[in-house]
Amino acid sequence: MHPKELISAQAIARRVSELSKEIDGRLPPGPLTVVGVLRGAFVFMADLVRGIPRQMTCDFLGVRSYGDATVSSGVVEITSDLASPIEGRHVLLIEDIADTGLTLKYLQELLLARRPASLHTCVLLAKPTLPPSIKVDFVGFEAPNAFVVGYGLDGAQLYRNLPYIGSIEPSQA
Ligand code: IMP
Repeated sequence: MHPKELISAQAIARRVSELSKEIDGRLPPGPLTVVGVLRGAFVFMADLVRGIPRQMTCDFLGVRSYGDATVSSGVVEITSDLASPIEGRHVLLIEDIADTGLTLKYLQELLLARRPASLHTCVLLAKPTLPPSIKVDFVGFEAPNAFVVGYGLDGAQLYRNLPYIGSIEPSQA
């Protein structure tokens, strides 16, 4: 069964282009290190960085938070670390979706301990469950309280290649 479309490819493209401009306008001037969280952020990051016309390096953190389940285990495991140090750099952390915020909180603490010049966080989707205590600087869309897939997000590793964002029943994940 196909996921039910919630956000079209056109709506995503419009919002991502706006977000790139917002980010470029609000981040301190100077070179940037963009850190994408694998694997869910790779599609979003690819589109977002192309709208930010400044010198940047791109790096990735491999993270496993759910295994293949659809509910947060609360356990964040780093499966692959950054390739380069971020000390003294302006860093933009890019995540696909924040649900409980546990993954973001863990990653923000991990990155801040490495003494970047600044750290900003951008998520494509924020669920209503995200506590206000988690600092997110840029949000693409408020997500519905459903399990969403597509545009990089997976259900049991499937659907990442969908050009739109859709919802599936947990039994389909
Ligand atoms: P959190 O730690 O509960 O905020 O969960 C964050 C991670 O769980 C995200 O980076 C996603 O990998 C995954 N996740 C949470 N909700 C969804 C969803 O609706 N669809 C796909 N992945 C999700």
